[in-house]
Amino acid sequence: MRIGVDMDDTICRTTEMVHNRLEEYSKQLGINPLDIMNDEELKGNFFAIYGEDIYKNAEIKRNVSDVIKRLRKKGNEIYLITSREDNFKTTKISAFEITRQWLAEHEIVVDAIVTSVYGETRAELCKKYNIDLMIDDDPYNYKKIISMGKQCLLFDDREKYALKENYVTNWLDIEKYIERNH
Ligand SMILES: [Mg+2]
Repeated sequence: MRIGVDMDDTICRTTEMVHNRLEEYSKQLGINPLDIMNDEELKGNFFAIYGEDIYKNAEIKRNVSDVIKRLRKKGNEIYLITSREDNFKTTKISAFEITRQWLAEHEIVVDAIVTSVYGETRAELCKKYNIDLMIDDDPYNYKKIISMGKQCLLFDDREKYALKENYVTNWLDIEKYIERNH
């Protein structure tokens, strides 16, 4: 089967890196980190400056590499689908290339990498590319994908969400779910 996998906070610990760099940036500006995240322009600037650093240095989550390897060995295809965009101020490198390099460094082989897809567009893409199952930590994406009649597992390893349908908390459980249901 063809499995779609989200990147940030599904494969790697992006939020932890964001918090870390946000603290640094907010000190520089002398404003509260929350005020940066609540302001579209400041937030955009933050990601334009720190995006490359955050994406390059985000830690991998537990068992990701092994589970993806085993899933591909069993004939599944892995499509990496991310909302990362090319809007970095500090570099000309693309979101695709940063993601490709990170995956290579962590010995993760995927069948496709698709960038700049979020929400409605992500759900449409799942349909267009015949994704059988999407794994995503974002409840908004989850709901859009489900509403298109596609299957989605909500990845929630930090107990962030109240939504407890079709949810998994770690990569070994993702593997078990796929073995049980497909
Ligand atoms: Mg995500």
